[in-house]
Amino acid sequence: MMKKTLKDLNVEGKKVLVRVDFNVPFSKENKKEITDDSRIVAALPTIKYLVENNAKVILMSHLGRPKGEANPDFSLEPVAERLAELLNGVEVKFLDSDVVVDDHVKEEVAKLEEGQVALLQNTRYRKEETKNGEEFAKELASLADLYVNDAFGTSHRAHASNVGVSAILPSALGFLVQKEVEIMGGALENPERPFVAILGGAKVSDKIGVIENLIEKVDRILIGGGMAYTFLKAQGHEIGKSLLEEDKMDLALDLVKKAEENNVELLLPIDFVVSPDFGENAKGTVVEEIPADQESLDIGPKTIDLFVSKIKDAKTVVWNGPMGVFEFPEFAKGTNAIAKALKESDATTIVGGGDSALAVEKAGYKDDITHVSTGGGASLELLEGKELPGIAAVEDK
Ligand code: AMP
Repeated sequence: MMKKTLKDLNVEGKKVLVRVDFNVPFSKENKKEITDDSRIVAALPTIKYLVENNAKVILMSHLGRPKGEANPDFSLEPVAERLAELLNGVEVKFLDSDVVVDDHVKEEVAKLEEGQVALLQNTRYRKEETKNGEEFAKELASLADLYVNDAFGTSHRAHASNVGVSAILPSALGFLVQKEVEIMGGALENPERPFVAILGGAKVSDKIGVIENLIEKVDRILIGGGMAYTFLKAQGHEIGKSLLEEDKMDLALDLVKKAEENNVELLLPIDFVVSPDFGENAKGTVVEEIPADQESLDIGPKTIDLFVSKIKDAKTVVWNGPMGVFEFPEFAKGTNAIAKALKESDATTIVGGGDSALAVEKAGYKDDITHVSTGGGASLELLEGKELPGIAAVEDK
């Protein structure tokens, strides 16, 4: 079912309430200093469109986990300032309130003129937010004529500021959420082939749903990262002290069998970078058999060559999860090589949020990837083939 998008709404002169994801990281030393504003940047197309089309824009977001009460450490005020800078002089009225919506906020919203922008205080100052409380949803909805969901990162949650408000106001998806759904959803529904999935990260248990869904859709699955060792152990390999989820070994074998039945090539690492200890100063050694007293912390050079060769002819590539402990440069080579292979590929390349997105950004490859998702949990749920409640709640076309 196609959802309404921003351009399906007549926003001229209307008060438009927009759920954005301004959950940005702050410096540990200076709690008011934003260290990465990419989530604010990602919301700019929707905000600018609304300003240019003479809407009265009311933005809302959560920030961190203030646990349902006002807490200045989680105030969105610094975000309002950063947003104003990014909008090149468009004023952003920060409507501070310990309860997010009160009489003063209502008065200020009523005074908004066409093309003006306001930002409400952190929606998680209210405990009803994460419980999709009806009263809070009504208070938010009372501020506006229309609702737009442009917060992909929280669309896998049913909260008052997305699902609750969608039930009350005429609603549509913002440009960011539209892009996330069209590119990732489109690739999964109707991929150009060969379609290759690369999966990594710490645990098999986090990715079971993703693997099960992708086995029905892809031509190849390349598995690296901590999760690979549960597969290798289940197949009888020595994995030393590498990550293992013993209770997932049977499942790993089932997945391998399912891949065979679906004619999906499932590839595991064939060499490794191991170390006797784990840490910033650990030194890695390349091996083909993992010694019993060592832990594998990255895929080795032969695996890199194998995986890269399997990406070369792909027409669609989806990647989620690092190939090793990429936080330490000594064990980041596998992850960086995959990022580079995606950068150099002519395929539609999609990077699920979280750690792999970070790796692509750190390497400076972001502009060469078709789409780097802004949502970790939300993009995983899309890859699992689930319907995201924050998107499902928006009106159909
Ligand atoms: P996830 O959040 O599931 O995507 O997992 C990401 C985490 O997995 C990162 O913090 C990596 O350091 C970790 N990881 C990846 N490969 C390994 C490995 N071989 N051993 C231990 N941890 C790993």
